[in-house]
Amino acid sequence: DQSVCAPLPVLGRDVSVPLVTGGTVTYAALDYAASAPALQRVWDDVAAYAPYYGSVHRGAGYLSQLSTDLFENARKTVAAFLDCREEDQVVFTRSTTDSLNLLAAALPADCQVFVFETEHHASLLPWRDARVTVLDAPRTPQQAVGTLERALADRDPHGPALVCVTGASNVTGELWPVRELAEAAHAHGARVVLDAAQLAPHHPVSVRDLGVDWVAFSGHKLYAPFGSGVLAGRADWLRAAEPYLAGGGASRRVTRRTDGGVDVDWHESAARHEAGSPNVIGAYSIASACKSLTEAGFDTLVAREQYLVRRVREGLAGIPEVKVLSLFGDDAPRVGVLSFVVEGWNSSHFAAALSAEYGIGVRDGLFCAHPLVRTLLGGDPGTQGECGAPEAAPGERSLNAIRVSFGAGTPDEHVERFVRAVG
Ligand code: PMP
Repeated sequence: DQSVCAPLPVLGRDVSVPLVTGGTVTYAALDYAASAPALQRVWDDVAAYAPYYGSVHRGAGYLSQLSTDLFENARKTVAAFLDCREEDQVVFTRSTTDSLNLLAAALPADCQVFVFETEHHASLLPWRDARVTVLDAPRTPQQAVGTLERALADRDPHGPALVCVTGASNVTGELWPVRELAEAAHAHGARVVLDAAQLAPHHPVSVRDLGVDWVAFSGHKLYAPFGSGVLAGRADWLRAAEPYLAGGGASRRVTRRTDGGVDVDWHESAARHEAGSPNVIGAYSIASACKSLTEAGFDTLVAREQYLVRRVREGLAGIPEVKVLSLFGDDAPRVGVLSFVVEGWNSSHFAAALSAEYGIGVRDGLFCAHPLVRTLLGGDPGTQGECGAPEAAPGERSLNAIRVSFGAGTPDEHVERFVRAVG
């Protein structure tokens, strides 16, 4: 199945990096989960548009009109990519973190929030001003559903509630039972937001099929690295909320009161939460990435990526010192994201050696998911650096891990080099 298709062309595929041993090697970018390289097609689309760049919703000139059209059409492309409902809104944000903070700021009064401790900090932390229930890490997908059902059964069924779930873990790559969690939430009158930061680049996401109320993802993980993200979903809570940012673009009419204050009538469309000049390149590049992935076909992309996942798993399984981290078991379905520790090695030193000796770029550390990494490694990973790696002496047990991640642009050779290097 490796021959299902060639990798999609991405930027940086010919970049040479120096090795500590002398000489150079083609860089093997195996850190897609942090930021994926831009698709060549996204880059070409942006370059073709760049001369026509103009302000969005803020000019009468031809190029402003063109940019406004591209920006508004990008919403439609994203809505189609996510298979949104007719009435859903697509809000352009800076990132997944921004999207989830936006939703957190738009929660109705007294909203209860339910979230697993295994979430990325972007999904775990924005709700801290609400009534949050943090759920224990499940060890099977079924247990996740059971844990959520029990927590929801105890809540006041009349008040608003939100469940925040991840589609694919940024640490283990494991897929979460999103549809089942959404059904459980809805059965108890709660709504669901899906953190699709690690799911959308690897898997088709259908808001309708999954039955989620909102989806958040980041452009830079979806091969469109221009500082943009998306929050898509139900309009009612977003419309009822104060704008996330106050400013031009969000306001429909602003008037001076006789007492000297200012009155404002906010837009009800997505623009309500997009104050300030929009990032049209960011939105356009996300739309271009959505189209490219759709045209390449997720069936083909998933088949190819799963071949690479198998290669990494088989390769690592043959190395006794390596322990792959998983919540749901070694055979659980996952996207192209795997974390592991190597006995006798400090993970940071190991990752540094992969870079210096083999030109392989992976990630080491705690992956902005401290409670999850703590559960997986069975220890306190310490507190140094928000997403960074606590120091351990050489030979000490690792309290951080190494993550390898890949996707649509990864050639087989990168994965083969990685497996050889670890071995
Ligand atoms: N959620 C998950 C699952 C992630 O992996 C990440 C990024 N590592 C985020 C949220 C946050 O994304 P961003 O940094 O683009 O806001």
